[in-house]
Amino acid sequence: MSKIIVLMGAPGAGKGTQARLLQERLGLQQISTGDMFRAMKAAHTPLGEEMRAIMSAGKLVPDDLTIRMVHERTNREDCKRGYILDGFPRTITQAAMLEKLAVEQSKKIVAIVVDAPLDILEKRMTGRRNCPVCNEIYNVYFKPPKVDNVCDFHPNAHLLQRADDNPDTARERLITYEEKTRPLLDYYEKSGRLHRVDGTRDPEAIYADIERIVNGE
Ligand code: AMP
Repeated sequence: MSKIIVLMGAPGAGKGTQARLLQERLGLQQISTGDMFRAMKAAHTPLGEEMRAIMSAGKLVPDDLTIRMVHERTNREDCKRGYILDGFPRTITQAAMLEKLAVEQSKKIVAIVVDAPLDILEKRMTGRRNCPVCNEIYNVYFKPPKVDNVCDFHPNAHLLQRADDNPDTARERLITYEEKTRPLLDYYEKSGRLHRVDGTRDPEAIYADIERIVNGE
């Protein structure tokens, strides 16, 4: 049975980095709801402006819109062999919808949480930069580019900081995580589907654990 890999963890835990590695190395499609909402925000439509307001407050986009988007996206051909959810589900309502979707798509849910303490999460968020061309993720504290503020692979690309990685919004996002998303860990734990990974180590060590879990399931 093909799998839905649910990558969980607080903002800054390294979900995006791990989802990219899984996509590159195992060929599973990465579905990042955050990336999809950032693309909507960039469009400067009324819906885009709504996304901007929600995201800059560190809040969650409403469940109905999020659920419709994930449903539509994961029913495409490139998700048939399985896929990785990076940033979804984030609420109990979203998790309930995912159960139905997994049945409909004949897939098995494997939940993996990347754990890291608060001081690391804060630095991972506020230090994060990304390349606008290839989306490579850097961090000024943990993984600086070779030349300050320039992508290692695209010498003409100046690195960008996500609007919601400023200290105030980052703090709000952590509060939202604790309130709305952390209860999901219990939900997956109780049904015996939660795997925990120590997210304080370097990305390759974390990846090795995750790959072992994915291949073992
Ligand atoms: P991320 O890139 O996963 O940190 O997501 C960035 C922002 O997009 C979040 O702070 C939320 O505002 C929004 N977002 C992403 N995924 C979801 C989701 N599953 N449900 C609601 N809002 C989301």
